[in-house]
Amino acid sequence: MHKARLTNLRPLDEARNLLANEVSPRAHLLLPLEHAAGLALSHDVRSDGPLPLEDVSAMDGFAIRSADLNGSPLQISCEIAAGSSGGMLKPGTAARIFTGAVVPEGADTVVPQEQALMQENGNVLLEKVPPSSHIRKSGELFTHKSVLARHGDRLTPARIALLASGGAASVPVYPRVTFAIVLTGSELVSAGESPEPGQIRDSNGPMLRALVRESGFGDAHIHRAADDPHSLLMILEQAFASADIVLTSGGVSVGDYDFVPEMIDGLDGETLLHGVSMKPGKPLLVGRVKNKWLIGLPGNPLSVLAGWRMFALPLAHSLQGFRRAFKEQPLAARSNGSVQNKGSRTLLHPCTIETDSDGVVLLNPVPWKGSHDLYMGSRADAWMRIEQGESLTPGTRARYYVFNQLNPARMAETQPEESDSIMNIV
Ligand code: AMP
Ligand code: MG
Repeated sequence: MHKARLTNLRPLDEARNLLANEVSPRAHLLLPLEHAAGLALSHDVRSDGPLPLEDVSAMDGFAIRSADLNGSPLQISCEIAAGSSGGMLKPGTAARIFTGAVVPEGADTVVPQEQALMQENGNVLLEKVPPSSHIRKSGELFTHKSVLARHGDRLTPARIALLASGGAASVPVYPRVTFAIVLTGSELVSAGESPEPGQIRDSNGPMLRALVRESGFGDAHIHRAADDPHSLLMILEQAFASADIVLTSGGVSVGDYDFVPEMIDGLDGETLLHGVSMKPGKPLLVGRVKNKWLIGLPGNPLSVLAGWRMFALPLAHSLQGFRRAFKEQPLAARSNGSVQNKGSRTLLHPCTIETDSDGVVLLNPVPWKGSHDLYMGSRADAWMRIEQGESLTPGTRARYYVFNQLNPARMAETQPEESDSIMNIV
């Protein structure tokens, strides 16, 4: 049976690259802009007009013809507030104007009110400023049909603001993935129950649900399954009915009660990965079930945390159109302690993150007893990545992955064949 051994471990980067090449984003759809925060655009988006629409004032002050700035006070012939249109400026006069208001026809310069002196007769004496000062020209940020954002760009708050200003009330995006969680283990009871001998409280369910939520994927339903292949298969089918990614916890290794690996066949799926050369999390399993995904996480809590960070989180982002999520590099910092990897797998060692007085990131290794050590693991912020044979000492360069956050480097990867605008059909 396939349970004999788990010897053929994939190196961590190779395993992640393998998945990078297997995952394609979900079908795109059009979403109202306000529901698209954090998602990736599936097409370029263009403006439906220029910004600013017309020449507008950048200051509160006075709009004038620069030729009229000859050291004599000017009569104030009109007032233009934001929201009203500009009209025509009478030659030899000034228009009282406010930030964002349309510059009247004929005016070419705005003198800020800080450089103006009101006279008793109501006229205004203006300091000389260079022609064209303090005017935001029509179209100076973008023009009609400018590309505001490209395929693959993430909808950050500022980009959402830009798209709103360019008239994109709906945007073409790769939709958010949905998760379900399946806990295996006949020994599990919930936090509110008192475990009998042989039982253990479920900590992976609450952790996974929190990881899913904290990463912005919404709520994940938690299913429980005993260590029995028939009920496990039924529960997995149920879980797949409502989720793009099913995360299982436990039962993924080679023990007699580890039934998750054989479930992929039962679900008509394909096993892409079983066994990764990393510690913790070695027996990790990844299967594709039709166009959905199963990530089998080992039962020990820190293996769950590591498997989520290295596989489930980048998988979810890849499905959401961030094609480089599996190719992210760890961040670099300095070790603030000593750790040696004497084992044969890539070690992910829990650490806390600090900064020195120059803002340089320092990583403090957290002493732990292993993948079951939730007590110490819960104090950590990140995983230090330490290769086989590598030793870290205070001051040496160390690489790390923040627990529930991908490296924030850009993950956009524009695909030219998809980059035509679909603004016209929005
Ligand atoms: P397994 O991968 O099923 O062999 O489980 C490995 C270890 O993780 C065992 O000690 C399990 O009792 C423990 N474990 C499995 N599932 C959970 C869970 N949901 N919460 C806490 N511990 C678990
Ligand atoms: Mg188990």
